Amino acid sequence: MSRYTFVNPWLMPGKFLKGNLHTHTTLSDGEEDPAERAARYRAKGYDFLAITDHGRVARIGDIAVPDGLVLIPGVELHPENPYRGEEYHFVALDVHKDIATAGMAHPQEALDAVAEQGGVAFAGHPYWCKHTWTELAPLQGVLGIEVYNATCRRIGRADSTAQWDEYLRRVALCGAIATDDCHGREEERVDTYMGWIWLKAARKDKDAIMDALRRGAYYSSCGPAIEDLRVEEAERDGAPTLRISVRTSPAAEIAFVSDVDGACFVAGATGGGDARGAGGETRNAGERAGEGGGEAMISSAEYVAGPKARYVRVEVTDGRGRKAWTNPVPVSADAKPEPSPAVLAGIPVAAPWAQV
Ligand SMILES: [Zn+2]
Ligand SMILES: [Zn+2]
Repeated sequence: MSRYTFVNPWLMPGKFLKGNLHTHTTLSDGEEDPAERAARYRAKGYDFLAITDHGRVARIGDIAVPDGLVLIPGVELHPENPYRGEEYHFVALDVHKDIATAGMAHPQEALDAVAEQGGVAFAGHPYWCKHTWTELAPLQGVLGIEVYNATCRRIGRADSTAQWDEYLRRVALCGAIATDDCHGREEERVDTYMGWIWLKAARKDKDAIMDALRRGAYYSSCGPAIEDLRVEEAERDGAPTLRISVRTSPAAEIAFVSDVDGACFVAGATGGGDARGAGGETRNAGERAGEGGGEAMISSAEYVAGPKARYVRVEVTDGRGRKAWTNPVPVSADAKPEPSPAVLAGIPVAAPWAQV
């Protein structure tokens, strides 16, 4: 992975821009052509859209782009998996020439080819690929993980949150994007307008959007809005740590997820109004059923992280079960990835896993 630093987009000036970074068209197996996709996403209020067909980079200059929409050229790459699992799906963005992955000895070659063109790559839908952190650990230069992929709903594997968390805990910190990976037509309502990112860019153009993406100035959503996020110095158990507070659209749950502990604030559990708390307690979580949870929504919560936490990220769930995810906030500079049993046994992380 690239070196990760957290930037707080809520402290940056300007408006959040909405975008979908994973789109198929008639250039591969999508059912709408690039101009139709562009027009329809713009009509739904999107500010940017990446065209990422299988193995073929779209020529953005040839596509009629509606006013107010920024198109990003991309491609989905499928190098073979040398560890005997399913092939990789890399969502490569800001690339301009086709990359032939057939015959590559290792998926790293595909990532290197993306980087040579000045592009970036996300690891697409690991849950759908049946990949875990072990497939991702040997890779260098992946910008982040696709935490939500709408088209993977077709097989019930849209949500890769667990795969992302295990990567954060075991390997390295990185951001995550929610996407549509749309293939179907809008009318089918299967994989359009269901996963997106909100990004804070200096300007509304491709270079500024890519710069903000590289820096991690975004969050992902399938519905809920995260209206503010603050990170302040705090103390817990006599040790320095961070207090993280959020304000959101009406939520059934706001969870602070960490590698060492966490907290979940649940609507209805406090009889309405905002749930507030600190110190790593989960006192509200078990009361939800008895309270008919979801009737009284919450819209803010705060949490003081465990001082030894590697990271804390915030996950918001609305009354329909739709989620939003912040990128991870690093807490302790000393926290190291939790070693896997294989590493403890002296096996290097970059070893071909299945051959161990
Ligand atoms: Zn894919
Ligand atoms: Zn795809």
